[in-house]
Amino acid sequence: MSKLRIDVDLDKIRYNTRFLVDHLRPRGITVTGVTKAVCGHPEIANAMLEGGATGLADARISNIMRMHDAGISCSISLIRTPMLSQVAQVLDNCDVSFNTEMDIIASLAIEALGKNITHNIILMVEMGDMRDGILPEHLESTVSQILRMEGISLKWIGANFACLGHVAPSAGAMELLSSLAADTELASGPALETVSGGGSASLPWALGKGATGKINNLRLGEAILLGTDPVSGYAIDGLYTDVFTLWAEVIETKTKSNPNPLQMIYPIPSMQCVTLDSPSNTRSILAIGLQDTDAAGLIFPAGVTFVGATSDHIVVENTDCLLRPGGEVKLKLNYSALSRGMAAPDVAKVFHGDGALVDCTAANTDRRYSKRK
Ligand SMILES: *Cc1c(COP(=O)(O)O)cnc(C)c1O
Repeated sequence: MSKLRIDVDLDKIRYNTRFLVDHLRPRGITVTGVTKAVCGHPEIANAMLEGGATGLADARISNIMRMHDAGISCSISLIRTPMLSQVAQVLDNCDVSFNTEMDIIASLAIEALGKNITHNIILMVEMGDMRDGILPEHLESTVSQILRMEGISLKWIGANFACLGHVAPSAGAMELLSSLAADTELASGPALETVSGGGSASLPWALGKGATGKINNLRLGEAILLGTDPVSGYAIDGLYTDVFTLWAEVIETKTKSNPNPLQMIYPIPSMQCVTLDSPSNTRSILAIGLQDTDAAGLIFPAGVTFVGATSDHIVVENTDCLLRPGGEVKLKLNYSALSRGMAAPDVAKVFHGDGALVDCTAANTDRRYSKRK
């Protein structure tokens, strides 16, 4: 068996979820566990639910199908606006989807009517992240169009922060979202079930002291999985930052002191960083590459320095430890490295954790986590 694997500590996922659920409950905020970075792995989804998440969300239908196939029966929202080409599949596999485009919403409504079902819609409002979202000034007209359609039902409104823009939401932005929710309720009659105030980037606001207004949900991925804040990259106090560990095997270690003069080719591909003035010339190769993870998102152990990566190799320099072929290197992953690693077929996923929720008073706040996101 290949040693290339990601160890997953399910107890720490349960713990991180429980910690966030317990701290957000007094603020009137529920937690939806976001599983897209782990491809909807049912073990991880179940650990989030056992930790108190009230629902799940994923960006891909295939991941949602995987969770349903594994017997997960809670509501799972599709948190990327559906492709027009996948409307029927969305209706068959998701009871709720995030939406921002009238043509797609109309198509969902027509097909849902044909199937004699009602599909739930979450409208995403653009609040400055400049990724997906209806402009606030268009919300009212969108809502009134939706209310006239059969086959769909408006359940939530929500916003994204710091997905594309890396800017944490301000209290003012949250107040605006709250007042848009109030306006929507005035127009739509029945109260909106949920007003979702963003992802992990909204935690500093949600765990603060300001009024939460109408916001009663967050959709959390990174904080649960990595214990980090997506904006700063820092560990969040009280959460485990070592849920996932990537292990890669060493396949070469050599001292390459006097390489034959190289004919440099310009421009140098960005990932091949050729260090000519390096302090050490002992290099090792790990049997993992860009097809398996985001090499720039790995955190290496002390004494091991990243040199470069190709599709199937990661080259490192090692100063104070000798990496022998057959040995293993333990790596930490950021969100991007994790999501690629979890999707890579050659990286085994090994689950640990006996189901006991670890003691909530023994939180490990690992402050050594690198700032790199
Ligand atoms: C990925 C995603 C989230 C979760 O974000 P985290 O920063 O991982 O908590 C929430 N909402 C939407 C729409 C997303 O795409």
